[in-house]
Amino acid sequence: MLSEIRDKLFGGMSDEQESKYILTVAKRILRYYGYLLWAIIGIQIYNLLYALIYTKGKLHTIPSRVYSAFYLFLILVSAIGLLMRRYLKKRLPASAKFTVRLQAFYGFLLIWWGACITAYDQRVSDNVAVYLIMVFTISVLVHMTPWQAAASFLFVQLFLLLAVPVFQSDATRLHGVKVNTVIMTLMSLFIAVYHYAIDRKRYLIEQEMMEKNRILNEVAMRDSLTGLYNRRFLNEKMDQIYQECSENQKVLTVMMIDIDFFKRYNDTYGHQQGDECLRRMTWRLLQELDQEQEYLIRYGGEEFLYVGTNLDHETAREKAEKFNKIIRALIIGPSEREPRSITISIGLFTEIPSMEKGDEKDWISCIARADSALYAAKSSGKDKWIDFSVQ
Ligand code: GH3
Ligand code: MG
Ligand code: MG
Repeated sequence: MLSEIRDKLFGGMSDEQESKYILTVAKRILRYYGYLLWAIIGIQIYNLLYALIYTKGKLHTIPSRVYSAFYLFLILVSAIGLLMRRYLKKRLPASAKFTVRLQAFYGFLLIWWGACITAYDQRVSDNVAVYLIMVFTISVLVHMTPWQAAASFLFVQLFLLLAVPVFQSDATRLHGVKVNTVIMTLMSLFIAVYHYAIDRKRYLIEQEMMEKNRILNEVAMRDSLTGLYNRRFLNEKMDQIYQECSENQKVLTVMMIDIDFFKRYNDTYGHQQGDECLRRMTWRLLQELDQEQEYLIRYGGEEFLYVGTNLDHETAREKAEKFNKIIRALIIGPSEREPRSITISIGLFTEIPSMEKGDEKDWISCIARADSALYAAKSSGKDKWIDFSVQ
């Protein structure tokens, strides 16, 4: 019951989602907190210099020493924060949880620091600006769980309620300070919790969108009949494949594969049997592929494009021969008693791509060469492969 309400308010996550979320938060903290820490150090150095100039370098009054000690404390804590940031950055993702906790603690220190200064300010005024600025800033910038926020904000508020009367002797002013700080603390606590909830929910929505996008992309790159990659995949992936081959001086193998007399197959057995034939044939070819380095793409109706990056010239030829052989031997339904078979023709082209930086990518001409080779295979009897590679 309680956990249901919590999930509804703050976005329920599985353990895995939670740790990924914490990692995202930690990365955000490590990326941006450097600026915050440097800004705090800069402001405190300014304050310190001001105190020195004001007292002509002597810091002879007690308040000037107390304030200088406060400024120095914050410079020190922020400098430690900067060093920790470097250390934690190198140790991601293991350091993610600790990073988030440390910044929450740093946030607490800042509010408490503001409260100390504000309490001390009460000797001479009823100014609560430092505390108000701090508590508001922290509520917006620091990532705290609702428990951490409640504990930090309320602890500091309690501290203020006890410390302010020590320095503030005017009863009316004391009342004003108490009311103003309590209201601001409660408002800031609300803002901190609100931010926490919104941040988690936004993260969950982003993740959901990314997953849907991934599925959509995957579906958009597949052919619905055979499940093979389609032309969209070719256009999106081929630049990268070609470039990788060029950079690593690997052989790029391209085969244009076309079923022989497929129109006749369709006319004889019907279109649905033709579809089944396409599925059987591609299923068989896929068994021969290393899916990390070899791709089979449905290029057109009954034309398929093989792209491989793991063969040399000779093994590419052997592979083409094997493709012919396994399809010749493949029994295509509808039953064992009524076996049907098909043959394929293959146009082969292999080359080690050479690309100078900024060159036009030339995989299209590789496919054109393979297509010409296919045409030659068709016109010289079919059920064979022909290689148009330049030796
Ligand atoms: P060739 O040996 O010269 O390749 O002759 P072919 O009959 O195979 O070639 P052609 O290009 O004349 O015919 C291809 C046929 O493929 C025509 C079309 O009906 C069929 N086809 C294309 N896409 C599909 C499909 O998705 N399903 C089915 N069943 N048939 C298809
Ligand atoms: Mg054909
Ligand atoms: Mg064809």
